Amino acid sequence: MKHLFITILLLLPLCRMLAQEREYVIVVHGGAGAMENLEDDKEKSTLYYAALDSALSIGNAILSAGGEGPEAVMAVVNYFENNPLFNAGKGATCTSAGTFELDASIMEGKDLAGEGADWFAKSQGLEIVDNMYFATPKTLKWIEDLKKESKKNGTVGCVVLDKQGNLTAGTSTGGMFKKQWGRVGDSPVIGAGTYADNEGCAVSCTGHGEYFIRHVVAYNLSTRVKLLHQPVGEAADYIIHQELNTKEGNGGLIAVDKKGNFAMPFNSGGMFRGYLYKEKGTGKISKAVGIGKKMKTL
Ligand code: ASP
Repeated sequence: MKHLFITILLLLPLCRMLAQEREYVIVVHGGAGAMENLEDDKEKSTLYYAALDSALSIGNAILSAGGEGPEAVMAVVNYFENNPLFNAGKGATCTSAGTFELDASIMEGKDLAGEGADWFAKSQGLEIVDNMYFATPKTLKWIEDLKKESKKNGTVGCVVLDKQGNLTAGTSTGGMFKKQWGRVGDSPVIGAGTYADNEGCAVSCTGHGEYFIRHVVAYNLSTRVKLLHQPVGEAADYIIHQELNTKEGNGGLIAVDKKGNFAMPFNSGGMFRGYLYKEKGTGKISKAVGIGKKMKTL
């Protein structure tokens, strides 16, 4: 009896591995919005495709060497945060007061991870920068022109299925342009903009945050996969195109489940996005990036 119990215990991780159809998967987004014309702008789209490609390569280097999801998600999100093309970290959009208030979160699917906060960062000896550190010549101009209507899309996110079979999700943003200072969007809210559960899926959202909070989008999707056994693509399409679209929630999401199935739906004109995965057995790597409706295979 004891032997049988031990054998079953030893087999459990193996069964979990068999369920995983791809060795690892990484999906990224760089925000959603009315960007359909960008796809045909050769100069600008080349910059975004290259940035999405670099983000995928950073994640790939970590995951292929056996690195775990949180390490890959943090490295990818940090890369986006330091790239002024995107609305996160340096280059983030500003509040109506002309300051920078950044939201971010990360979650592991095998158990709950904590949130970042200034006091925690300080207590851990992390470098704390001045608020204007996040400004670029472009955002300084926005601050000057605050009266004019303008928008920046480009929240960033990353979801990963690692070789160990674990799911991780992370999201980082400067929020909505000219947001009320003190506003907290969906991105740092676990369940709304970010969620990961190994039995459901890992999700990172981008779009009009208030609606993503109202529909608890990330948790909603993971729970549909976990409890209703809906395929991740079907459930994600339903939330983005039915639940949100009919109620004015503009945006999209990226998600991956424990088998390696992933989805990247959006109901806006476009969404900067990309995926990379390694097939089990053949070891073949597939990679593509997109802005508007089309995907570009790399
Ligand atoms: N979801 C973000 C927020 O509402 C903005 C975005 O993704 O563009 O703060």
